[in-house]
Amino acid sequence: DSSPLTQLPWAGPAAGSARPCVQDVHRALTYAQLEDEARAFAEQLDELGIRQGDVIGIMLPNSVELVVATLGAWIRGVVATPINPTLTAREVSYQLEDSRARLLVGAAMEGVDVPSLAADELRRSATSRDAITVDPDRLALLVYTSGSTGSPKGVMLDHRNLEAMATSMAQHFGLTASDHALLVLPLFHVNSICVTLLAPFTVGARVTVLERFAPRSFVDAMERFQPTYFSAVPAIFAHLAALPADERVETRRLRFAVCGAAPVSPELLQRCESRFGMSITEGYGLTEATCASACNPVSGIRKPGTVGPALPGQRIRVVDPRGEDVPTGERGEVAISGPTVMRGYLNRIEATAEAIPDGWLRTGDVGILDEDGYLRIVDRIKDMIIRGGENIYPKEIESVLATHSAVLEAAVVGRPDPVLGEVPVAFVVLAPGAEVDADALIAHCRLGLAKIKVPVALEILDALPRNPVGKVDKPALRHSLAAV
Ligand code: ATP
Repeated sequence: DSSPLTQLPWAGPAAGSARPCVQDVHRALTYAQLEDEARAFAEQLDELGIRQGDVIGIMLPNSVELVVATLGAWIRGVVATPINPTLTAREVSYQLEDSRARLLVGAAMEGVDVPSLAADELRRSATSRDAITVDPDRLALLVYTSGSTGSPKGVMLDHRNLEAMATSMAQHFGLTASDHALLVLPLFHVNSICVTLLAPFTVGARVTVLERFAPRSFVDAMERFQPTYFSAVPAIFAHLAALPADERVETRRLRFAVCGAAPVSPELLQRCESRFGMSITEGYGLTEATCASACNPVSGIRKPGTVGPALPGQRIRVVDPRGEDVPTGERGEVAISGPTVMRGYLNRIEATAEAIPDGWLRTGDVGILDEDGYLRIVDRIKDMIIRGGENIYPKEIESVLATHSAVLEAAVVGRPDPVLGEVPVAFVVLAPGAEVDADALIAHCRLGLAKIKVPVALEILDALPRNPVGKVDKPALRHSLAAV
């Protein structure tokens, strides 16, 4: 009952017990076994001369080993920087150098100059059972933002950040020891670390880790594991919506699914809800606030098109450029405060001061708060199109396109224009079997949008380009325009 692992701020009532904890297709560990393996990894770090405060890179596919290595690092006060295994040697080197990592857990890579430890070299049994204590102020994770706005920056999250996030989510979703999370998002991103790993751990729930999302293996996993919830991004729901009509998904035990990380059309979520009998709750957040800051309730009023109210323990304001609140119902920049706000960007004092000028994290997102405190994300400040001095929010155009029955997904970006500065251009992916031409879709936009917002051109694509975490890669779309 007084398991040493409970000393880790996020460890819950099942720590040290024989309850099922985490499994992948190869192995299943109880809470006691996870603790033992994490301790064994910590001892291996000692032998390699890795000390408290050091950073290690973890570049493994989603797996039990990845979880073991991360927790093992934390036991020693070592900081983990999760690395996307699909990065190139140049990108991996950047992250290892920027974070000053001393070890890479994962296969050695040509062109990457740091000692490495392969997953199959991880030791499985610990020799000592000393008490574990972790200082909540100690850094736990260095998560690199995807870099869609410049070179990747290391977001510093400490154990207090993680604990606050995990417990706030467990409370918001009403998680209990009988929950079972299906983890499908990559573990180099805070979404899956917080929503489907740490939050369930705080209540003694169980976690099944999939290596990656693919429609077929996801459908099989839903059938085989019958999870009570999962967390996904819009692209995954788009894949589910596009499954052949006779394909069913087992959702009998599913209490809810979470959608977040990028804008999504209420129509897409609605389509998945009615077809699969799942209840999807949309949330919003960013790495700089550990993961999520707002989320619609699981039971309670869900407002489609909003990302819900602030999560327990966090506060949300919508502010003008001077940092003053804008009136309810008006647009401004979303700002967040609370125990989940990052410690800062590693070695970037200026960028940190810009992001958190007055204790409130500026998110770079444009939002509106309604009278019930529900937040609507209008767009990102950096994605806004300025056409002849008028602000145009691409998301508004994307939403109108999404209401057309032939449209599965849409993305709008600004194209440089010699006269107007920028003009909106749309990229559309059609629903399976749908046939429609660009002119008809532009005509559809004219019905719902002021003239200046109607895309000047529209291109139909087989798929939208996406960054490694599944977000529409708008810089790539802008780039493709420049090349034309
Ligand atoms: P970078 O900061 O380098 O551009 P990134 O935007 O991918 O990378 P993340 O922390 O992964 O960084 O993503 C956070 C952003 O994702 C938010 O600021 C917001 O723009 C967007 N986002 C998250 N959830 C939602 C949502 N439900 N609706 C709309 N946008 C969302």
